[in-house]
Amino acid sequence: MQELEERIQAEGTVKPGNVLKVDAFLNHQCDVRLFDHMGAEWARHFAGKTITKILTIEASGIGIACCAARHFGDVPVVFAKKAQSINLDGDQYTTTVYSFTKQKEFPVIVSKKYLNPGDHVLLIDDFLANGKALRGLIELCEEAGAVVEGIGIAVEKGFQGGGDQLRADGYDVDSLAIVESMDPETGKIEFRH
Ligand code: 5GP
Repeated sequence: MQELEERIQAEGTVKPGNVLKVDAFLNHQCDVRLFDHMGAEWARHFAGKTITKILTIEASGIGIACCAARHFGDVPVVFAKKAQSINLDGDQYTTTVYSFTKQKEFPVIVSKKYLNPGDHVLLIDDFLANGKALRGLIELCEEAGAVVEGIGIAVEKGFQGGGDQLRADGYDVDSLAIVESMDPETGKIEFRH
């Protein structure tokens, strides 16, 4: 998606440790017009699929998932929580995920009320690196007996391999920008096309 690539080139910064910072429009300040365009793009890609629910993970997935839902007939958006809370009542699906950016394990939790057998789920997230976060969401869907119809990603870092592994496993992964290489010294970012 050209618009997203241009924003990454103009406003993204490359940090040591393979981290791309896009706080200006995605991870801190949110550009909802861009989010809306991203949702439209996923809707075009997944047009042949029946989607009954969008599942994402807090925090940065929530904004893009909500904007995307407007393009999928206003299906409900469920976000997995990363911490236990007294507000989470009843039975839950839980798993554990290793965080690339925080470099530690954290729980991923969805109430059984909001993920059901018979759900046809579109997974959405801001970044795809090694694929751990998505694998966690897929596990929750499997536990629930829900079908994963596809995966919509804003920025995939292709050189980390998580996306290609998911494609090899048969998942339909639509990443709107795939970073092929990025250099923290020069700031140069190259995309896969
Ligand atoms: P994975 O689980 O695929 O290794 O990493 C994906 C998760 O880590 C995403 O949910 C995202 O929050 C975070 N993440 C991974 N790489 C980056 C990055 O380069 N920049 C930002 N902002 N977040 C990242």
